Amino acid sequence: AFEYAPAPESRSIVDIKPSYGLFVNGEFVDGHGAAFKTLSPAIEEVLAEIAEADQADVDAAVKAARKAYDKVWSRMPGRERAKYLYRIARIIQERARELAVLESLDNGKPIKESRDVDVPLVAAHFFYYAGWADKLEYAGRGADPQPLGVAGQVIPWNFPLLMLAWKIAPALACGNTVVLKPAETTPLTALLFAEICQQADLPPGVVNIITGAGATGQALVSHPGVDKVAFTGSTEVGKAIARAVAGTDKRVTLELGGKAANIVFDDAPIDQAVEGIVDGIFFNQGHVCCAGSRLLVQESVFEELLERLKRRMSTLRMGDPLDKNTDIGAINSAEQLHRIRELSEVGDAEGAERWAAACDLPAKGYWFPPTIFTGVSQAHRIAREEIFGPVLSVLTFRTPAEAVEKANNTPYGLSAGVWTDKGSRILSMADKLRAGVVWANTFNKFDPTSPFGGYKESGYGREGGRHGLEGYLK
Ligand code: NAD
Repeated sequence: AFEYAPAPESRSIVDIKPSYGLFVNGEFVDGHGAAFKTLSPAIEEVLAEIAEADQADVDAAVKAARKAYDKVWSRMPGRERAKYLYRIARIIQERARELAVLESLDNGKPIKESRDVDVPLVAAHFFYYAGWADKLEYAGRGADPQPLGVAGQVIPWNFPLLMLAWKIAPALACGNTVVLKPAETTPLTALLFAEICQQADLPPGVVNIITGAGATGQALVSHPGVDKVAFTGSTEVGKAIARAVAGTDKRVTLELGGKAANIVFDDAPIDQAVEGIVDGIFFNQGHVCCAGSRLLVQESVFEELLERLKRRMSTLRMGDPLDKNTDIGAINSAEQLHRIRELSEVGDAEGAERWAAACDLPAKGYWFPPTIFTGVSQAHRIAREEIFGPVLSVLTFRTPAEAVEKANNTPYGLSAGVWTDKGSRILSMADKLRAGVVWANTFNKFDPTSPFGGYKESGYGREGGRHGLEGYLK
């Protein structure tokens, strides 16, 4: 284990207050629940105290959103709503460094990811949906699509700001108002986003941010004043939400878990495939719903690929999320670290062979080294359950048909990857894989113009692109 001093110069560009209230009706107000703390997972240091919203706070936020919807936002011409969204997008670009540092501090992800992936994509989503706000007559199937009303949105901790953008940008573009609850371990960038809404002079009540844990989320999604529920998180909670809103007229979209197959054929460019495998499972410490967590390798290239993969994994640098050379940051919470360890131990017990890159782990904080399991069978729990960490299960196949059968042998269906030199094979595989996204010779590529969402237990509805508008219009 080694000690490191967190990079002080980047830390100093963020102004973290000792405590934060809830953002309701354009202002920060006290919450009525018990306050909780958010930590930096890399150093186990308390960053701030966060208000917890109780039922009365949820009522107030929904009421503010309803009033803003009825009196201002749904009546505003699309081109005027667009101006606010463009303004928010530009402020995000201006404050990009601050947002990236805060995201890395609160979440543990490497700064090069928050700086080069998360924050630019956040701005891109606001720019993209700003462009739709005055063109909605082209978005729906019928004439004159209408907004739904108040959207209650609940998001996870793995991409706190990006998930917020996926939810808020299309909702606002379509003329809805929102109450959003970030995850309890990563509330800080959503609260900075609330300040950005103030800076953009967004009318009060159009965006409300309430903090708290599962009970706050539950109060929000089941609130009778919420017309639309948008949730990203675990399949377990997604099912609970679907049950909670059953029988109401709320519209629901769910983005849930995954266990994606990353399929490498023997004609694939091996070095590129190795980069794609590393990106697929170790990006964001594997805290990615569409992570390529099951590697399916054609038998004839298995040995060679495995050797190159191990060599590449040995070069990954783990440590201070604020250091721009870091490849692998901290695991988001003690609880998540426990889950990753537990499921990995199940892999050992079931007879799979574990290999981890030899690396020194920082003395404080939550860390798990990049790990692969070989000798994995389809029945193993590590081949079926989402680990949501930097752990890859490796299986082999002989024929394309066997690859398809294994890839689809999962209750999930969010994404998949195919590595091959044959264009015709890409098309035929994409056709047969039951996954919302199929990447070819790349992995974990996101773009605001492209819809994203699952099959089977990975949820329903699409976010991103023109399809992402449909979840916010009637
Ligand atoms: P989680 O389901 O435990 O929590 C997600 C959010 O839901 C948090 O804000 C939490 O406070 C809230 N919540 C918890 N219980 C609730 C309830 N009963 N009612 C309403 N809200 C409730 O998930 P997590 O551990 O924060 O995130 C990891 C999971 O999210 C993984 O399974 C991952 O695959 C999934 N995920 C999916 C996508 C996607 O787009 N499909 C994206 C990111 C994460």
